[in-house]
Amino acid sequence: MTRFKYHFLSALFLFAALATAQEEQKKEREPGHYNQSKFKQMYEEFATPNNYRSASGAPGPDYYQQQADYVMDIELDDKNAKIYGEETITYTNNSPDDLEYLWVQLDQNVRAKTSKSPLRDGGGVPMAEQAGSFVQKYITEPFDGGFNIEFVKDANGKDLSYTINQTMMRVNIPQPLKSKEQISFSIKWNYNIPDHTVNRARSGFEYFPEDGNRAYVIAQFFPRMAVYSDVEGWQNHQFWGSGEFALPFGDYEVNITVPADHVLDATGTLQNRKEVFSKEMMKRYEKAKKSYDKPVIIVTQEEAEAAEKNFSTKKKTWKFKAENVRDYGFATSRKFIWDMQAVKLGNRDVMAVSMYPKEGNPLWEEYSTKAVAHTLRSYSAHTFDYPYPKAISVHAKNQGMEYPMICWNYGRPNEDGSYSDRVKYGMISVIIHEVGHNFFPMIVNSDERQWGWMDEGLDTFMQFMAEQEFGEAYPEAIAPNSTYPSRRGEPSKIVPYMSGDQSTIAPIMSNPENVYQLGPNAYGKPATALNILRETVMGRELFDHAFKTYSQRWKFKHPTPEDFFRTMEDASAVDLDWYWRAWFYTTDYVDIGVKGIKKYYVSDKPSKKMQEYMAARNITEADLPPLVYLAEEDSEDADPNLKGKAPSDNSKSLKEFMMDNMTESERAAVKEPKYFYEVTFDKPGGIPMPLIVEYTYADGSTKNITYPPEIWRKSDKEVSVVISSQTELTGIVVDPKMETADIDTTNNSWPAQNGPSDFDKMKENIKGK
Ligand SMILES: [Zn+2]
Repeated sequence: MTRFKYHFLSALFLFAALATAQEEQKKEREPGHYNQSKFKQMYEEFATPNNYRSASGAPGPDYYQQQADYVMDIELDDKNAKIYGEETITYTNNSPDDLEYLWVQLDQNVRAKTSKSPLRDGGGVPMAEQAGSFVQKYITEPFDGGFNIEFVKDANGKDLSYTINQTMMRVNIPQPLKSKEQISFSIKWNYNIPDHTVNRARSGFEYFPEDGNRAYVIAQFFPRMAVYSDVEGWQNHQFWGSGEFALPFGDYEVNITVPADHVLDATGTLQNRKEVFSKEMMKRYEKAKKSYDKPVIIVTQEEAEAAEKNFSTKKKTWKFKAENVRDYGFATSRKFIWDMQAVKLGNRDVMAVSMYPKEGNPLWEEYSTKAVAHTLRSYSAHTFDYPYPKAISVHAKNQGMEYPMICWNYGRPNEDGSYSDRVKYGMISVIIHEVGHNFFPMIVNSDERQWGWMDEGLDTFMQFMAEQEFGEAYPEAIAPNSTYPSRRGEPSKIVPYMSGDQSTIAPIMSNPENVYQLGPNAYGKPATALNILRETVMGRELFDHAFKTYSQRWKFKHPTPEDFFRTMEDASAVDLDWYWRAWFYTTDYVDIGVKGIKKYYVSDKPSKKMQEYMAARNITEADLPPLVYLAEEDSEDADPNLKGKAPSDNSKSLKEFMMDNMTESERAAVKEPKYFYEVTFDKPGGIPMPLIVEYTYADGSTKNITYPPEIWRKSDKEVSVVISSQTELTGIVVDPKMETADIDTTNNSWPAQNGPSDFDKMKENIKGK
């Protein structure tokens, strides 16, 4: 072995030993953390890809979905607030399986007298109760709002046996429905319509005592096919009230009979407009189809107020057809004012529509259709062009509920027509949100019963972008020099939830029936997680392309969480397993701080610490190649003469190296750093995030460095980085723009800030709202 080789190997050994010593120190701090790495891939949590769902997150070559087509005759008995229906369902089994029975959803049974839904929540006596619900709970008999099933018959009119288990009905077909075959059967039913303002139903009527009228918003009103899929088999999890709906796509032909003086709109295209519209309404409608900049009134407030007094005993039937929808809803009343405008999307025209009683004005005529049109434009730009012919916003007190092409929205002015900013922004926001639901889950048709966040979270994220764009498109609608006051989406807004009592927080990946606070769990947190992903982790370009890819891959299909998670990575080349794990599968929070800083200078001589280290390993300086040593300024053997000097003045080996390897002009051009710092960041929070740091120097300059989240991959609690500079470092701030939802910013600065922290200020801010 030559002397040179010996030198070389000693040096290698030394550096390897140094590196290992560092790793060992960290291991001692965190026993076993290698087995629980937050950057481990999600093979255990994710379903295994297969021929139905590809590893890329796209539908696989054998992907299938069932089809349920409906022909329905519906009649509303306004006097008795009852609804009657007869429907024929044609169900196509596209699955590879033979089905021995069919499951039909009877959601109204959640309002049956015998419903178990009110009995499942413990919790004791509340401090206060709404008067209406108090009366319902303790004073009157329970409302009888369940389905009365008159018959279930096959295509030949022969009775089919059926079994009702709460909100699910199993139709016992005599022979299995074979793969690729179709079956038709009919159901006749009726039920009592609830007052939705009393018992928080998603569907029902509001009664107006001043004029004796009702305004109906009707949905989940007919027995609907459950979803059968490669993921769940039959999705027949009961409807308890929180977890929404899972429904297959199909074509609908629906005839709805109501009092002749009612105005009605519904999912689908109206087939007999000339029969149900007056001549004047037809004229206005033709005008609305060409009005792209503002709505045209189809039924005026004056006409609606006149109609309120009639109570016609005649009937009218409104006939609709809808293609490729997963559900059906309609709204009807004498009280409705009606306006519409056209929206250009690509080369298609879509109608933006609003219906509202006079109680909604003047707010509704000013903002509703404007918000509908804006939502269609904004969401289409981020996903795909809205494929349906229209989108309707119906005003219903305290409602915020979505169906294909139609939704119910709150936002009612005071009786004198005045309204607060809170009511105005609440109304615009709920319209954006509910119209937005056309995209998620009406078209990108996820399973709401199982995963609330897949529609609510994605929609709330899209809502945040659409609200901000609304503020830009209509600056006159918001306060001067401000942005739209979004309630959810900004990282700081989710801090109170994520930093709250862990015993009342569930992971986003939970069934909506089982979470404690559904709002932040299924809406706020996933929306914020996506916003942070877009703005901070992936960047807009990569995120927007991936999000659009997901939307287009799963448009008119049934995606699962894995399909979303996988597509976002597949289309962007960003490994996000750590992000999904932290934000969606745990209740961890973000808290990253700056722990400390040490100053170093360059020297020719090993420090005392280094000498001890070498001695322990039997290495002498003669064994080593020429080295540049770094010594800590605060150590007892520090040489004050060497501090703040150019490294090549302090180190002979460095100077020699530069002389040998750089030209004179190269040497003249370099500016050697004079200050060396080891900055240590700690992470009390469980979520790894990009480490966003702003360094400030004595000359007033600042430098921003974003270390990738992978900086935490080997040490989850603490990392140190080296900073070199020509002027002294005077300040460090972690996450200076508050973009990570860091729950405690009191540890985000060096030197530590005095006075109220940003966190305290933010808390004050939240309290004030
Ligand atoms: Zn929603």
